[in-house]
Amino acid sequence: MPTFTDLGLSSSLLKAIEKQGYNEPTDIQAQAIPLLLANKDVLGSAQTGTGKTAAFALPIIQHLEGPRDPKIKRVVQALILAPTRELAIQIQENFFQYSRFSNLRIGCFYGGVSKVPQMKTLYHGVDVVIGTPGRILDLIRSKALHLSTIHHVVLDEADQMLDMGFLPDVKTILKEISQPHQTSLFSATMPEAIRHLAHQILVNPERISITPVEEPVDRIQHDTIAIEKNQKLSYLLHRLKDESIVSALVFTRTKRGAKRTALNLKAQGISTVELHGNQSQPKRTEAMKAFKDKKVRVLVATDIASRGIDIHQLSHVINFDMPETPEAFLHRIGRTARAGFSGAVIHMVSREEMYLLKAINRYTGLSLSPQRDHGFKFDASLVIKRDDEQEDTSGYQRHRRPKGYRAQGQDALSRPMFQGEAAMRPNHGEKRSFSHAGKKPFRRSQGERSTTHSERPQKKRPFRRFQSRGAKPN
Ligand code: AMP
Repeated sequence: MPTFTDLGLSSSLLKAIEKQGYNEPTDIQAQAIPLLLANKDVLGSAQTGTGKTAAFALPIIQHLEGPRDPKIKRVVQALILAPTRELAIQIQENFFQYSRFSNLRIGCFYGGVSKVPQMKTLYHGVDVVIGTPGRILDLIRSKALHLSTIHHVVLDEADQMLDMGFLPDVKTILKEISQPHQTSLFSATMPEAIRHLAHQILVNPERISITPVEEPVDRIQHDTIAIEKNQKLSYLLHRLKDESIVSALVFTRTKRGAKRTALNLKAQGISTVELHGNQSQPKRTEAMKAFKDKKVRVLVATDIASRGIDIHQLSHVINFDMPETPEAFLHRIGRTARAGFSGAVIHMVSREEMYLLKAINRYTGLSLSPQRDHGFKFDASLVIKRDDEQEDTSGYQRHRRPKGYRAQGQDALSRPMFQGEAAMRPNHGEKRSFSHAGKKPFRRSQGERSTTHSERPQKKRPFRRFQSRGAKPN
């Protein structure tokens, strides 16, 4: 196996690698780094956790580092596209670590947060842009990001970008780059659409394949439990009594399920965060950081955390709900046993999920067979909370409130009216609302007969005085 020095890396990079504690290059690094340093296009299929990020980041840093004139504004020279915000952030962190002696500016751009600070960052100049396709395209269309100076492009986890419907955006972005540039495409699997894309965008690519992705890592210990659907929460609590589960990534099928599970774990005093698409981006980032920094023991997540995310020495992955596809299964279990460490996965399989397990066994060649855990006694009293018992004030919930919902104490109008507006409003000054004050409740109680408008008791609508929160209108 060659050393990092044999790969032709610069002294500043060797110093950074030493600081990272990497002794020797991984397979993908040994193969990809010399090719990328020689400006070749690369098509890589590598199992996740193989050191893929360093394989493309180190050569890019080496191409871009060097003395620079502080009077000349930085221009974007490298673009890395990743499917999820979490992965983009992680790639940026890796770039920071590897370029600590290289004087580069690395920017990360993703949706769910304001565009304005991102535009400012671009205005002040960055060397490397990392981002998710939607926001990158948005920034290009806002004329904040110009790709005419790009020399290096990386598409990471291309198959997930395909799954998430990003491929049209990716193609539009790549069309913006007219000048010759080096492109590398990394994908865990190579479906036809990705092969076709690779054929379109790569020029005489060198192919790298590190262990077929279909093979699950053999350092993983599987524990497959047969459990009824309604007993899963109680069983999870039972398993988490085991202190050898130092950190656990629990996967649920739905966002609601993730929320409910996290709520129940927290109620039992287990330090837990949740991660799913219904949260705001700052909350997602905060949750991921807390879990990566080992400040909390459990992360309950949907499959947005199943790809590419690197959590150092994650001891357990728990499939609270079995994944819908065998590919998702491989990505989930790939969060553990990374970088040479071992790991354990607990699969909680209900009878409704048996068909999913069979598909997984067929696809992976594993022979997982669910067993009852005889040490477990179902305790329904432990499962005390449902997600909808707690008032959620997050932005998502506000959007999901039923039509006609009006928070208590909310003013009829939250802005002062302009002159004459009151008279223009049909009910004199009150913002038209669907409030059901004095009417029938939003939902009929069971057995109650539907009534026509004329049959309903005609209660007088309570008179509301005009109220305004801000300055009084003229
Ligand atoms: P990645 O596949 O890029 O997400 O990397 C997986 C993990 O391997 C990360 O925690 C990296 O810090 C670590 N890693 C990358 N390259 C090496 C190496 N040469 N030696 C040891 N660990 C590495």
